[in-house]
Amino acid sequence: MPLDSHSPCPCGSGKEIRFCCSDMLKDYQQLETMLSGGQFAAALSMIEKLEKDHPNNAALISAKCLILRETGRFDEFIAQAESFYRGNPDKLKAIAEYVIARTIGGQTDEALSVLVDGIEKNEPGKIDGSLLFPLIMIAQQLLEQGNIYTAVALAKLSQSFNPKGRESAALLAQIYRRKDIPLIEKELTFDPAAPDDFPFRDKYQDAAVRLATGHWKEGRAILEELLSCAGQWPNLYRSLGLVNFWLGDTDAAAEAMRKFASSAKVSFDDAVDALTAAMLTRRQLSDDLDVMQVIRTIPNPDKALEILLSTPRLVSMPFDARMYGDAERPAPSHAFRVVDRPFPPQGEALTLENTPLLLGTFLFFGKQTDRDARIEIQVFEQNRETLLAFLSEALGAELGPEVETNLLTKLPWLFKKLDPEFQIKDSAAFPAESVKKLYRDYFETAFAEEWLNHPSDFLDGKTPLAYAGQPESAPVLSALVQTVAFQTDPQFSEGLARALREKLGIPQPETLTPPEGDDSAVLAFFQRIPIWRWCRADVSTLSVTAAGQLLRVVSIFGEDEAMTRLSDRILSVPADEADSAKTASASESETASAPDRRPLSAAEARYMAYEVRIAKAETAEGPAKALELIAEAKRVAREAGISDASLSLREAAMQLALGRIDEFRRLVSYVAREHRGDPEAMAELQMMMINLGLINPDGTPRTVSNAPAAAEPVSPAAEPKLWTPDSDAPSSGGSKLWTPD
Ligand SMILES: [Zn+2]
Repeated sequence: MPLDSHSPCPCGSGKEIRFCCSDMLKDYQQLETMLSGGQFAAALSMIEKLEKDHPNNAALISAKCLILRETGRFDEFIAQAESFYRGNPDKLKAIAEYVIARTIGGQTDEALSVLVDGIEKNEPGKIDGSLLFPLIMIAQQLLEQGNIYTAVALAKLSQSFNPKGRESAALLAQIYRRKDIPLIEKELTFDPAAPDDFPFRDKYQDAAVRLATGHWKEGRAILEELLSCAGQWPNLYRSLGLVNFWLGDTDAAAEAMRKFASSAKVSFDDAVDALTAAMLTRRQLSDDLDVMQVIRTIPNPDKALEILLSTPRLVSMPFDARMYGDAERPAPSHAFRVVDRPFPPQGEALTLENTPLLLGTFLFFGKQTDRDARIEIQVFEQNRETLLAFLSEALGAELGPEVETNLLTKLPWLFKKLDPEFQIKDSAAFPAESVKKLYRDYFETAFAEEWLNHPSDFLDGKTPLAYAGQPESAPVLSALVQTVAFQTDPQFSEGLARALREKLGIPQPETLTPPEGDDSAVLAFFQRIPIWRWCRADVSTLSVTAAGQLLRVVSIFGEDEAMTRLSDRILSVPADEADSAKTASASESETASAPDRRPLSAAEARYMAYEVRIAKAETAEGPAKALELIAEAKRVAREAGISDASLSLREAAMQLALGRIDEFRRLVSYVAREHRGDPEAMAELQMMMINLGLINPDGTPRTVSNAPAAAEPVSPAAEPKLWTPDSDAPSSGGSKLWTPD
């Protein structure tokens, strides 16, 4: 919106321009036009001229900061932002620029601390618009650094201040899509209120408001004051732990979580979760393994290559040499994997004994003008000797002397062990089930054995087995098992956790039994349980509509195990029985975090369950099964009055995978024709065509040989913005920053 005399003044005073810098209205208007038009050079010279008469004008300085940033002059920007902040440590515009500068410089701890100070200068629940951009910027950086708790908290905070903000929505979506981040890290939360009999209920309420509005330091101070009452209500420790995670004080957070967990008033499950939360923040820090690089010369490359290519325990890996190397460092000609034992004969069942593991890899470089032929080996330190001995034996005199040995990187022990790197030649020759069994055996026997005997930082350097046996060790060990399970491939994590608990003599998680009866009681039961525990619930008594409500929630969080159980439950109820049941009333029972709280019909629940089942069939059971399910789902959709566009497109993709081009064309044409007016369907259609490489992101058809692109041209009706989320470039976002909202 163009500035007028009633607009909030860009100098950040909080007053309208007419009561503030009224003499500069024309200049501000002109500056704004230039900034939003991207005329940065002209704007900068105008600012420099104006500054002669208006030194230290915050609007001009922050516009200058914006220009320096937008034009990539980061060193100048950082210097400018620093002096702006030093001169005006209480001005939010200066704080905003300083936080951005520190974030760009990688000093996220300081950036975060100053940001929180800035937020605390606002009333709880309000924020100056200039702080929103630095807020989301730090959140993105913290996510990259693996500080999940703070990244999530900032993204949610940003969304609460600016519900329509695209950056925060995109960031949250990115976080929730990440399967490698356990839900507990995304969703661990503090109690919104203290129990009725807690004497300082109001004070806690005050702290909770501050935690929820970004006033984290103030909130933490109140919680610390209340700690003398933590004996009465140990949850104070959990809230304190969480805000300490957010503020980056991991040690204090872990200490608070331990105190919470050790209280006799805390349930076993809650104690385990709190300890798990603390362990997860340190999971990448311990137990480094060295990855080494060893370079050896090859005196006679042709001869060596002949041997290498005919040695059974060496696997030449196909790769595109053009992707690597440049004029400085020409690409290797070959890449090899070295396996630790011979491959089993075809047809023999895979076992832990007969399946080779990766010993290391090496790149083969032919002779170059100024360099001998050589191999560059990458190997874990503990495999180095074995691998070199094997190569010496295979190559004999063709393996030249060592040129150099370097430490390439370090990896956590657990990280390596959770990825055993079995080498399976021609995996198509083995049924998927036998490969799965191999991995299951690995996790439940070989890995379990090694893990139980491996010292852990979380157990004062003891091994889990040595730590077991005392009653007070059960929550800690359970948390450690859960931490490992969260990092394990979901296909094997439950079996692994079960095996570890058995060996450690600690309890298996109890099955959670929901009440029988009406949906609202069932939903209220689940609402009291953290979502990551829902997969432990017995769902066999749930009504279709209750299961549908729960499925809607777990789908948002991508909880695969719970999604599978709930959709299986829904589809196990015969359709006529389910449809005679009444509609769940979601209004009485606010389902946790579900954005869509309208009641759900049995048919809609069945439709959602089919979506989950189809996705599973697509990845695990193949297109034939998926098509069968799609046909059933379409029938349900028709009955429920749900659009069949999405199902038809999924079917099209399956038909294409089966090579049935005519069916593919028919379905695509059908959606393009029948759902022309539905922007969501059109966007989905275009997305699919782009993914299949049939059209370019701008909607123009792609000329690819033998592609089934001859289907009816796709309607360009859908707004192109739908699938070019990056289309609003920072330059247009930039001027919004400068102009107060
Ligand atoms: Zn002003």
